[in-house]
Amino acid sequence: MCLWALLLCVSLLAASSEGSVGDRDEKFRTCTKQCQNTGCINFTCFESCKSSLTNDGGQNSTQQFRVLPLFPGWQMWDCTAECKYQCMVQRELERRVEGQLPVQYHGKWPFKRLLSLQEPASVVFSIANLVMHLEGLLSFLSLVLNKLPQRCQGKRSPYYEYSTLWIIYSLLAINSWFWSAIFHARDIVLTERMDYLSAVSVIGYTLIVAILRTMNDKAEATRVMVVSPIIAFLATHMLYLTLMKFDYGLNMKICLIMGVLQLLIWTVWGWFVHHPARFKLWFVVLGGAAAMLLEIFDFPPLWGLFDAHSLWHAVTVPLTYFWWGFIKDDAVFRTNYLTNAVKVNKGRKKVR
Ligand SMILES: [Zn+2]
Repeated sequence: MCLWALLLCVSLLAASSEGSVGDRDEKFRTCTKQCQNTGCINFTCFESCKSSLTNDGGQNSTQQFRVLPLFPGWQMWDCTAECKYQCMVQRELERRVEGQLPVQYHGKWPFKRLLSLQEPASVVFSIANLVMHLEGLLSFLSLVLNKLPQRCQGKRSPYYEYSTLWIIYSLLAINSWFWSAIFHARDIVLTERMDYLSAVSVIGYTLIVAILRTMNDKAEATRVMVVSPIIAFLATHMLYLTLMKFDYGLNMKICLIMGVLQLLIWTVWGWFVHHPARFKLWFVVLGGAAAMLLEIFDFPPLWGLFDAHSLWHAVTVPLTYFWWGFIKDDAVFRTNYLTNAVKVNKGRKKVR
């Protein structure tokens, strides 16, 4: 989880880059301009440009328009986006013939569009992460509600005090991966903002969970004192991003600080308390650190589909499995500790 935060920070930086070699290329610019004016590249014309051409007096009414593949309604491939994509494909073909390597366009590699998805592999792996969190949540609920002993005073409730925190975490993580899938399916301002904001909310929340779990302080006042400033800071930051200025650099710095902080907290805590599941925790930390190399050493997409970022999304799938393994082990560990403490107290009362 802590590594998610760090990795999310790096991925947000990668996605925020604007003005790349590809879109500065003169041939690409000319192609895009011509396509937007005529709705066609060479002899292929695009359905999404049809309406704008009709407004031009039907000058190209004799040309055949190619109907786009599935789901034209939601995909939002308007004429400009369609022209940019098709010109990118054409330029990349020319570059390959000339023996040149692929370049980025508007901060993204030239991906093959599949089923109208802009970055199909990242979409699939984002959904896989979402499913893994959903599975983690359901198995966690089954464990704490059905398999582990319950407190029997009045309403039955789990012994594990952090159940609610982890449930909220899973919902935020699921929301984050949902927007990640949508963003990779189609990168527009709305989807990008939603992806960033949901990622920031997970990073901030995981910092709170890290502090509360490792502190293990039952005093409500202490918890409120620690959590309130972080929530206030997060709310201010997200409002600033939404209403004032979407500052990528500032967001990146804040994410990094929160990410590094929780990474240190979990690693040191696991070492000091000799937690029985500390090896799972460290595996996730080390695995995440190794996965981060994929974000640092970026490369063009293999077969037009798998770039470093999408592979990072793939790597986090098994790491999420192990992370939920740690959470469930922690639930068992705390429940055993608390039920043993109850037994000891009952024994003392009997002796008295
Ligand atoms: Zn991503």
